[in-house]
Amino acid sequence: MRRIIFIAITLVLNLEIFCAAGTESFFEERRKMMVDEQIIPRGVKDSHAINAMLKVPRHLFVPDGLKNIAYEDRPLPIGHGQTISQPYIVAFMTEALGLKKQDKVLEIGTGSGYQAAILAEIVREVYTIEIIPPLAEEAKRKLDELGYRNITVKCGDGYLGWKEKAPFDAIIVTAAPEKIPQMLVEQLKEGGQMVVPIGAFFQELYLITKTKDGIEKKPLIPVRFVPMVHGR
Ligand code: SAH
Repeated sequence: MRRIIFIAITLVLNLEIFCAAGTESFFEERRKMMVDEQIIPRGVKDSHAINAMLKVPRHLFVPDGLKNIAYEDRPLPIGHGQTISQPYIVAFMTEALGLKKQDKVLEIGTGSGYQAAILAEIVREVYTIEIIPPLAEEAKRKLDELGYRNITVKCGDGYLGWKEKAPFDAIIVTAAPEKIPQMLVEQLKEGGQMVVPIGAFFQELYLITKTKDGIEKKPLIPVRFVPMVHGR
């Protein structure tokens, strides 16, 4: 019996060392906890979104000093007054788009590049626009380094969309405009969907579906995003 207890203790200690803070297995464990504790219990069911959240190394998209809290239930600062969104919000918005493998998706507000990486795990092509040049460059460098070949990052004003690459099957907006940007609606395919936070201080996340005669607008949940800047 003593021998069994001894072996059990040794195993637990070894596991602790193996999972020590800062190692890949530590972060993998944290990712699993993030999904099990923050995402699934809040109702996200889409297996594509869940698998992507389990796979993408969120800790590599936050500043070095914040790596150990990368998987906590909150947004984190990424410099230049901007934030990487809370994991649940990333999963929720991804699920809301109802993505298919063949889709071409546009993201407005690249920020850290994390949401773009989540999308790129699911769909064929991701185009993402960031207005702050150093953030766009850093995200591009990181996504290249991680081997994402199906993401194109551009520095510019996403309020105007990306006409040359339109139409898109889906658009995800991760900075809040005060009203729905008409140019983005125009660049959506018929039947395509867009998730967008609308409002100044208090915002509501909307799911917009482009129809033959216009748009359908469905409120989802209250959210808090950084404001979309337009025409810098
Ligand atoms: N999706 C990001 C988080 C977004 S934070 C991530 O996964 O990390 C919102 C980002 O939108 C900020 O980086 C901000 O600079 C950017 N932004 C604000 N207005 C914009 C605009 N008009 N066009 C493109 N990006 C914009």
